[in-house]
Amino acid sequence: MTSTSARPSQNVMRPEKDRFLARENPFEEMMSRFDDAAQRLGLEPNLYRILRTPEKQIIVACPVMRDNGEVEVYTGYRVIYNTSRGPAKGGIRFDMNVTLDEVKALAAWMTWKCAVVNLPFGGAKGGVICDPASMSNTEIERLTRRYTTGIIETLGPDSDVPAPDVNTNERVMAWVMDTYSMHKRHTVTAVVTGKPVAMGGSLGRREATGRGCMFVTREALKKLGRSAQGTRVAVQGFGNVGSIAAELMAKQGMTIVAVSDKSGGIYNPKGLDLAEVLAHVKANKVLQGYKGAEAITNEELLTLDCDVLVPAALENVITEENAPHIKARIICEGANGPTTAEADKILNDKGIFVIPDILANAGGVTVSYFEWVQDRGGYFWDEETVNQRLERIMVNSFDEVTAMAEKHKVDNRIGAYMLSIDRVAAVHRLRGMYA
Ligand code: NAD
Repeated sequence: MTSTSARPSQNVMRPEKDRFLARENPFEEMMSRFDDAAQRLGLEPNLYRILRTPEKQIIVACPVMRDNGEVEVYTGYRVIYNTSRGPAKGGIRFDMNVTLDEVKALAAWMTWKCAVVNLPFGGAKGGVICDPASMSNTEIERLTRRYTTGIIETLGPDSDVPAPDVNTNERVMAWVMDTYSMHKRHTVTAVVTGKPVAMGGSLGRREATGRGCMFVTREALKKLGRSAQGTRVAVQGFGNVGSIAAELMAKQGMTIVAVSDKSGGIYNPKGLDLAEVLAHVKANKVLQGYKGAEAITNEELLTLDCDVLVPAALENVITEENAPHIKARIICEGANGPTTAEADKILNDKGIFVIPDILANAGGVTVSYFEWVQDRGGYFWDEETVNQRLERIMVNSFDEVTAMAEKHKVDNRIGAYMLSIDRVAAVHRLRGMYA
């Protein structure tokens, strides 16, 4: 941050009277944290205006022939939030709840997340309003291809690189890559990440987010002078992020005392046998019915007597109602946005060490970056190399976020936002203002 930057005047920042918007609008909710960090950084008003506005918002109609011969027209969005540091990076979700405001919020979030781990990427997000559960595979394929074609001008390894998100997966990414490549008349693997390993995906990508959570939790324990041995961990969400974080934390010597999924939670103060729990989930799809532990609710899991809490399922689960009762010393936010702004204040007052989502779950986008690098180089790394490089980035980023938080006497979340906004702003200043 240069010392010449002027503190933005009050009338440039969002007026106090508009703060109620944050509750109504996911973009304003996300930007309330941006505003706080920008103000503390003394971001100059011109840059503040630029960084508070998405670069590009695309709305496309996606006509799709249903299997019964009827054409349905779906609405798709792609928001490119900021590309000052490099190509835009961000997932595509297929969901009935997709809105332009949500896509804008998630695109901004990707901008800060990529910057906090210092990847040479900007931020983007895409979404299509649809109910994939009611669609056949061929309908989802046609929708993916039509949506990809709709946003094709923005896509490209140098401009905009999507990835999987809610209800999209490596199969969908393969169709995006194929559609883009057909239009370009040659195969372009680096246009998406999260692809199957057989067609340019990266080893270690599937485990990367949970592995990143383990690295930053391990660093937090070290910082607080605690040993991994005997540290009791509760994990909400036993999907990709939660189950892998739990397994890898257990390998570090931590004791996983509780896990949960949408069917409820299980608790054993002496520690769960994760191999047995995973076998149960493999056979039954859900945790419910597991016999080797006490059944608890998702709400009870959050306030259990434990040392580390890992929310790795949904947004807004840690609220002003339950935050006063949380006993964990460390919260590692595997999920995106698990803590409300009101709860943040309570956690901070209680002295809970929060590893904020834009840092804690950045392992996924970091290995997506490795995938893009490998595709562009046409040379693929072994899994050990991927994991070592991921570890280096996560540990450095943890140190940088906590140093920023300590320097400015703010919590880790605002520290993470300050670090990332400062990095994006610095590039804008160097590039100069084309205004
Ligand atoms: P997933 O679908 O693999 O797993 C989600 C888990 O949450 C499942 O166990 C599901 O049963 C559980 N769940 C769903 N509803 C629940 C509820 N009401 N209460 C409790 N548990 C519930 O998803 P994932 O990929 O593990 O993602 C989890 C979170 O992490 C999301 O917020 C996602 O945005 C975030 N995230 C994921 C990645 C990634 O690489 N997968 C990267 C960054 C952030």
